[in-house]
Amino acid sequence: MSISRFSFPTPIVFGVGARKQVADHFKAQGFSSVMIVTDAMLSTLPFFTNYVVELKATGLTLDIFNGVKGNPVKSQVTAGVAAFKKSGASSILGIGGGAALDVAKAIALMVNHPGDIFDYEDEKPGALPIDKEIPYWVAIPTTAGTGSEVGRSTVVADETTHVKKVMFSPRLMARAVFADPELTQAMPPAVTAATGLDAITHLIEAFLAKGYHPMADGIALEGLHLAAKSLPAAFANGNDLNARGDMLMASMMGAVAFQKGLGVVHSCAHALSAVVDMHHGLANGIMLDHALAFNFKAVPNRFERLAHAVELKSGADFLPWVKNLKQQLRIPATLKGAGVAPDKLEPLFKVALADGCHLSNPVSVSEQDFREIFSAQW
Ligand SMILES: [Zn+2]
Repeated sequence: MSISRFSFPTPIVFGVGARKQVADHFKAQGFSSVMIVTDAMLSTLPFFTNYVVELKATGLTLDIFNGVKGNPVKSQVTAGVAAFKKSGASSILGIGGGAALDVAKAIALMVNHPGDIFDYEDEKPGALPIDKEIPYWVAIPTTAGTGSEVGRSTVVADETTHVKKVMFSPRLMARAVFADPELTQAMPPAVTAATGLDAITHLIEAFLAKGYHPMADGIALEGLHLAAKSLPAAFANGNDLNARGDMLMASMMGAVAFQKGLGVVHSCAHALSAVVDMHHGLANGIMLDHALAFNFKAVPNRFERLAHAVELKSGADFLPWVKNLKQQLRIPATLKGAGVAPDKLEPLFKVALADGCHLSNPVSVSEQDFREIFSAQW
């Protein structure tokens, strides 16, 4: 038996109103000045402005950097580092979805690490080590999908080439997460569906990924159980706080579990984001049943366990369940239904094949396999 390493270290405060404990947390850690990193659009919403008023009333000194727009790019990080240094803040509070939290993480990285952020790209030959002090930072997620708040990496794009680069280190993790379901109520149904399907894809792919990780497997199955029950409910009624709470928990469980690996669905989704600029969660949602059908032939026994997690009797019922879930959430059944033109197929195969996620798929995926998975949808 080979030696394995497991790590699940993020302190998480979870529940309705958890955000109200953030100020005391910073003070208990000895920090009185905090820079909030958030998304430009989100920073105008009433829940955000009200929260800032609440935080200021506690006596914390606050600065706000709201320069996150769309997906993270390098200039946002550079501007955020400059704002942090100018503010004199000693700690960072990231509030938002995956983009805002990834930028918060990247700013924390670059405060004390010299040079260009891409000098720290994971597994790049000659990359600089992430070994200097990272400012204390805390995450408050406002979506339930990426699980970036418990993740160890940040994804930032080069704005000229649009290539996304991953900076990875366990030292980048948030020092604490305050996960408050009330803050996810602002998501409209289409965002709830797409981000929720991203979480479900993480849970399924982490469980199916090859490799020895029974802890991740257990977390993935229970997370899938929660998400299967609560995603349709959160979609139907965004104010259902029990369903919102289950989805927030399931999304963190997905991100914790996928340290084991992801698979073929994510490689297809990454290709769709690169080639037709599709939302990541929507891309996973559209591809999920088509790409999993490829895995079902290879590892039917693993689908028995997935089926039991969503209270079905047999593994053969799992893919029909996914199709039905998509329909309930008004996700297009196919790429054709989503309006993707067939002339995009060639670049889709190439980008999907070059993507690293399918390397941990339970069976290897060839270019021909990607061709069949994508082409079958027209
Ligand atoms: Zn994902």
